Order: sequence, then structure tokens, then C-alpha cells
Amino acid sequence: MAGDTSDGTDRRGPAAADTADGATAASDAESAPVTDPGSDGETGGADVRDDAPPEVEADDGAVDEADPAGTPAETSADTSTGSSADTSVDGDAVGGDDAAGSFEFGSRARTETEVDLDVDEVLGEDDDDEDSTGLFDDLLSGEPIFENKEVLRPSYTPHELPHRNDQINKMATILVSALRGETPSNILIYGKTGTGKTASAKFVSQELESTSQKYDVPCEVEYINCEVTDTQYRVLAQLANKFIEKNQTLIDDRLDELRDLRSRATEDPAAIAGTEFDAVAALDDRIADLEDDREEMEEVPMTGWPTDRVYSTFFDAVDYHERVVVIMLDEIDKLVEKSGDDTLYNLSRMNSELENSRISIMGISNDLKFTDFLDPRVKSSLGEEEIVFPPYDANQLRDILQHRSDTAFKADALTEDVIPLCAAFAAQEHGDARRALDLLRTAGELAERSQADLVEESHVRQAQDKIELDRVVEVVRTLPTQSKIVLFSIILLEKNGVHNVNTGEVFNIYKRLCEEIDADVLTQRRVTDLISELDMLGIVNAVVVSKGRYGRTKEISLSVPIDETEAVLLSDSRLGDIEDAQPFVQARFDN
Ligand code: ADP
Ligand code: MG
Repeated sequence: MAGDTSDGTDRRGPAAADTADGATAASDAESAPVTDPGSDGETGGADVRDDAPPEVEADDGAVDEADPAGTPAETSADTSTGSSADTSVDGDAVGGDDAAGSFEFGSRARTETEVDLDVDEVLGEDDDDEDSTGLFDDLLSGEPIFENKEVLRPSYTPHELPHRNDQINKMATILVSALRGETPSNILIYGKTGTGKTASAKFVSQELESTSQKYDVPCEVEYINCEVTDTQYRVLAQLANKFIEKNQTLIDDRLDELRDLRSRATEDPAAIAGTEFDAVAALDDRIADLEDDREEMEEVPMTGWPTDRVYSTFFDAVDYHERVVVIMLDEIDKLVEKSGDDTLYNLSRMNSELENSRISIMGISNDLKFTDFLDPRVKSSLGEEEIVFPPYDANQLRDILQHRSDTAFKADALTEDVIPLCAAFAAQEHGDARRALDLLRTAGELAERSQADLVEESHVRQAQDKIELDRVVEVVRTLPTQSKIVLFSIILLEKNGVHNVNTGEVFNIYKRLCEEIDADVLTQRRVTDLISELDMLGIVNAVVVSKGRYGRTKEISLSVPIDETEAVLLSDSRLGDIEDAQPFVQARFDN
């Protein structure tokens, strides 16, 4: 899709192919009304939650990533921005088209009910509830470990982000222009996974929107996760529909006011004195205009329109009134990888054509190199400001874990070495806070399962093994067949007591296996390459050793658990055909 990036002419080429399938899910999720009275009754917890803004807020994110398949990450962000937009534009009319006439937290809580509330969560909030005598609390909270496990899930958006002050302040310094009605510079954020990019960006966007409401300035943030919304069509359609929805709410609110004024004017023509209307006829005209506008706003279907029509619909929707819009494109590298840089090109040149509104783009990427694939103009426009998120070190991870564990675990549920150990393991894993939190949660779950009263160091080690094994299983399962055969050869050798094998030995077994299952036999050279790849994936360890005058060779050993890995390999239908592998080992000696 990157197409002709060089000529700079109209690149809104037809991208009908963009109109992909998964898009319907997005539309479902978006139209899944915030106001679903039915789900309200499902849990008494929802009421409790209404009174607990921090939890409600925080869990907002939970809808988000908890269900990567069905629910696009945008849902939650949209829910909150949707309602905030209403208030920012017209503080008096929060109710707007919220059919159930709910207030703000009400509408959020309702989305929450889509997420399973567990007993822990409800209990956690009951603590604040004076009506509860604690009789049942004690019975229900029989488990000693977790207070609120959700706090450790990746979907939870923390309110405090230790060791990210610099990055957060820098974002704020740039984005504050939006609150002054100016266009903020575009921002590009880089950092490895788990360095707090998404959490920080969401935190800043919540702050930005709440401040814009406070001062009643029209500033809005749209968050899009490009891993889910990964084509130009979908990004533009989603943005278009978001703004159409906001515009409609705005129009509805305005119409309510004007119709009200109209009916008062009917009884007493003096009612319009002091308003912008000098006559009832002018008021009627205005009402008719708004009704027309509303009528004309047509939602973009999730597939089927030419891309330029989607683009212009989005354009008109954003430009419907004055506002500054910050578009956050998280995992922006995924969008570019899948669909090229057309979207970014189109978005980054919009400001020169918009009349009432301005947009600013904030791209977030795990991968610095993706900008190499951008049109130079897009690259310089997008990277006006760059913010780097460095990996956390073990001490920083400790602080982060400590913060979370205070709410996640019951008091004194952790022995004192648990957090430092989780931090140390995750620091080795390129300073990944997600990994640190996963470890802590998994350790807690393992402790819970073994009915221990405390989470101990041994649970962390088990958790590390479990997470590592899950990773290995996933990597091995998705290897290409040839690599699987190579790996299986190494396993066969090891199982027969042959350790530190060399490439030649692996190759001999490999050849036999290929013949057995009718696979192509690659050259020894290629097999050596595949072994290096397995080494890079951390599945085998290959060290070059010198054999004196016989030159150098590689000594290969398995670095993953042998039985589990073998089981995963044999679950592949082709390798599963290998009947009795034992005799092949003889091949090691046939040169
Ligand atoms: P990224 O987007 O860089 O991959 P995330 O923002 O998703 O990383 O962070 C991964 C996990 O670690 C999330 O659960 C997030 O809440 C948590 N996290 C990251 N940085 C911090 C921090 N400084 N304080 C508290 N939690 C953090
Ligand atoms: Mg992220």
C-alpha cells in the first residue's frame, strides 16, 4: 500500500482492499451501547463501583486489552473520550443522547459489566462501604493471597507511573498547546515493550481531556491501537465514526436547547431577547440547519467505501467545529508494516486544509527502525518531537511492583524477597515491566493454587519457569517445519545421551528424519543457518569451539526443557509421523 510515495501527488488511492473482515467486530464493539440497561442488573458490584471512581477509571483500560480478539482496544478509550467530549463542548448537557439518562460514572460502570467482575474486586470495594458489617466479607475472603488481582493485569491503567516523570512531563509540555487552542507538535514515542509507553500515553490523555473539560476548551484525544486497527480504511473509518458520533451528540444537545427556547418563545416572544437570535424565524432556521447537518452525517461502514470517501467523511467530521484533536496511534509500526505509510501521509498533511480544527499525531512504537520505511516528509513531520522510553532497571522495577502489590495483594501476603526477585528476572528480560507484573501475578496464582498462605521465592521461580515454558511452547509450535526437524534431531541426540553435539551429527540425523517423513533435505550449510536461528531464539545454545588442527566446530546443546519441547514437536502432524526414532541415532556414527 505504500505505493508511490515519491511523487507527492494525491495518494488517497483506492484502498478498497483495506476493507477487511475483522472490521465488523470493531463496529459491533463500538455500537455496543454504553447504555445497556440489561447488563446493569447482573452484578450488585456495579453500584459499588459507581462510588469508586479510581477503580472505575482504572479498570476502564481493562476492557481494552483484556480481550484482544473481539473487543478492539479502542472501545474503552472511546467510551471515556465519548462522554468527556460531550461535557467539554457543552457542560450542561452531559445526559445528551445517553438514553438511560445516566451520569458519567454510570455509563462507565456499565461498560465494566462486560468484564467479568470477580468476588475479589467487589470485596475490594466493599471495604469502603460502611453498610457492610463484614460477616460475609470474612467468609468470602477466605483466600489469603490476592486483594485485587486485576491490578496486576496488563490491561490495568495505573494512576501513578514511577520513573516515567520525565517522559510524562515532556509529553505534557508538548501537548499543553492543545489547551491553548494551538496545534501541538507531532510526537513519536519509542521504547521496547513493557517500558510504559501505552500506560504513560493513556495517563497523559486522560489528564489532557479532564483539563480541557475543566477549562471548557475543545480538545479531544483519540486512541487507536494499530495492532487491531491496522489498515488505512479502518483507521480512518474508526476516526470518522468517532467524530460523527461526537458531532451528533453535540447537535442533539444544541437542538434540545434550541427547541426548548423555541417553545418558550412561542409562549413569550421576549424569551429570545438577549440570545443570538433576533427573531423566531432565525431560530427556526438554525434548528432546521442543525437537523439537516445531523441528517447528512452518515456513518462509515466498516467495509466497502472507496478510501477517499472515508477520508473526506473523516475530514468533514473533524472540521465540523473548532477543536484540537490529538490522535494517538499506538503500535504505529504495525500499521506501517501492514499497510504502508498512506494513513500517516494523509493525516499529517490535513492541517493545511482543515479550517476549524487542528490535528496532532502521537505515534507510539516498539521499533525504532520502522521510520526507515516512511516517506521522508512523513518521517520528518511525525518525528517533530521524539521521546524515548528506556528499559527499566531492577531497582525501578522494584518500585513499580511495590506500588502495584500494595493494592493487589492482601497485607503481608508476600515474603520480602518476592518483589526483588521478580524485578531481577524482568530486568534481565530487557527491563520489561509487563514481564515483572506477569511474574508477580503468576507467582501469586501458583501460591494460591498450592493453598499456601504466603507467596515465596519458590513461587517466583516456578512462575519464571512457567512463563518461560509458555514462551518456548509458543515459539516451538510456530517454527517452520524444517527448523522443527533440526530441533527434533538435537533432541533425539540428547535423549540418547549425546550432549554437545556438532553440526555434522545433527545433519546426519536430520537427513534420516527428512527421508522418513518425505521432507526436502536442505544442505548442511542451510541446516547450520537454522541452528543459528534456533540459537537466537534461545532454544538451543551453540558455541564455537576450536578443535586444534581440525579447525573449529559448533557444539550445540538444548536450552529448553526436553520433554515438553519434544511433545510440542510431536504434536505437529508431520513430525508426529515419525514412528520409532531410536534407530536414527545410530546415524551419528555413520559418517
Ligand atoms: P509498552 O506500551 O511500553 O509496551 P505498557 O505501558 O503497556 O508498556 O506497560 C506494560 C505494563 O507495565 C502495564 O501493565 C503497565 O501498567 C506497567 N507499567 C509500565 N511502566 C510502569 C510504571 N512506570 N509504573 C507502573 N506500572 C507500569
Ligand atoms: Mg504498548
